[in-house]
Amino acid sequence: MTRTRFAPSPTGYLHVGGLRTALYNYLFAKKHNGCFLLRIEDTDQKRFIEGAREHLIEMLRWAGLEYDEGPDIGGPHKPYIQSERLKLYQQYASELLEKKAAYRCFCSAERLEDMRRNQEANKLAPMYDRHCLYLSEDEINQNLKNKIPFVVRQKIPSAETVKFKDLIRGNVSFACKSLDDQVLMKSDGFPTYHLANVVDDHLMEITHVIRGEEWLPSTPKHILLYQAFGWNLPEFAHIPLLLNKDRSKLSKRQGDVSVEEYIKKNYSKEAIINFIALLGWNPGSGEENEIFSLSELCDAFSLEKVHKAGAIFDIDKLDWFNWQWRKKKYHENLAETAKKIDGTCIISSPKKGEFQYKFKDNESEEVFYIKRTDLLNDMCGRFIHEEYKKEGGTYRKALLTIEEKVLKEPENAENHLKFFFSIKDYDVSLLANEKMKVDYAIAKKSLIGAEKYLKKISNFNSVEEIKSGLLNAVTELSLKNGQVFWPLRAALTGEEFSPGVFEAAWVLGQDECLIRIKNALSKLEKNM
Ligand code: GLU
Repeated sequence: MTRTRFAPSPTGYLHVGGLRTALYNYLFAKKHNGCFLLRIEDTDQKRFIEGAREHLIEMLRWAGLEYDEGPDIGGPHKPYIQSERLKLYQQYASELLEKKAAYRCFCSAERLEDMRRNQEANKLAPMYDRHCLYLSEDEINQNLKNKIPFVVRQKIPSAETVKFKDLIRGNVSFACKSLDDQVLMKSDGFPTYHLANVVDDHLMEITHVIRGEEWLPSTPKHILLYQAFGWNLPEFAHIPLLLNKDRSKLSKRQGDVSVEEYIKKNYSKEAIINFIALLGWNPGSGEENEIFSLSELCDAFSLEKVHKAGAIFDIDKLDWFNWQWRKKKYHENLAETAKKIDGTCIISSPKKGEFQYKFKDNESEEVFYIKRTDLLNDMCGRFIHEEYKKEGGTYRKALLTIEEKVLKEPENAENHLKFFFSIKDYDVSLLANEKMKVDYAIAKKSLIGAEKYLKKISNFNSVEEIKSGLLNAVTELSLKNGQVFWPLRAALTGEEFSPGVFEAAWVLGQDECLIRIKNALSKLEKNM
């Protein structure tokens, strides 16, 4: 059975790259009807952060990446927290010492520091010089007796080359002489990442190790450990780095890297998952759709389609996904609400945060109140409802015109919508505009000219026809666009800010447009 794991070190936040690693492991396991587990790699006690583990769990739950085994839910290989498995690592470290695949190193911090400085001065790669590999049995026993603190180091067989086939990167090889004798156990009795990671992947029967490319240089060391223990190797897949737009490694300096920040900025979970899935993977040639839900990703995902090259983390693209998902949900809501609503509904002016609705059906006429926040869904209901009752119904048009605004700021939906249903008693000065050189005389001239052309339009269901009619009016009047469109838009909406004049006219329909123009003209008459 396929078994994958997400093995984060709790740092206090979940990096977007970490979420992608978790996602790919999850998708791969699900695709193969396997098991996905969460293991907390917290052996670096210096970096312990209160609450970090809980935060990670919360983030994975939020993203919908349910694991089958893990710290809070248990499983056949518990515990899933490395700091609770210390005895195991000590036992395996002893086994490596016995097998001479590891050795005790008693070097003091000062000695190691001197060595490092020398290497730096001589432009040599920083590596342990194997001083303690050559200690005699007696020296070792003497040191142990004197209780000199020691670490356990991996003994890298210098003459070899480690070769393996990475599922993403193909054949990879590392010459052992370039590998350091890695510390496996620290003097405080805690293992390092390398030992704990290998022991646990083996004991937890992980079949596929899917992790970031930054771990690739660790893999030959891990393979040598598997070989020293005589264990079967898992498959390895190293996924590409995440890069900033300038191709530098994704960093905090250039933007947010923690998933939480994106949640705070109101990006939806679906958008984040969709965006992250496509950072380094694509569904393959011929497939143009980029919108995938988590369950669709489970079907579509494969490691063969993960690229080697670094993936650019492009916020504009995330914004695009967020927009697509909001739209998708909006339309799904419409369909849902539509099912619930029957009868024709008329909206009246808003009052104190509530809207009054009149529902008419064949038998009764009922009035009820609806909360402001329900407005959008309710409007949506009518959108569909009206659509099948009356082709091109006003509500549908109204919603299409303001769709973008509603999605971006749903709390303002009512402001964007209300003038479609009733026009407020605006001040005549709204019809003039100094900057655009519209005084009352020009406003009057424009409205009369526009009225003439709007009357002539035969298909008021076409924004294009309305637009070309009104542009003809502008030409005939020998005025600037703004000189005609400002007073007209004001006359139609009674608002300083509203959708454009063509859309507003389209939504209102011919009769209502003409009524509103008449109304504006009579306001002007009174003031001239
Ligand atoms: N604990 C490592 C990390 O923080 C895990 C790396 C691996 O998956 O092997 O990413």
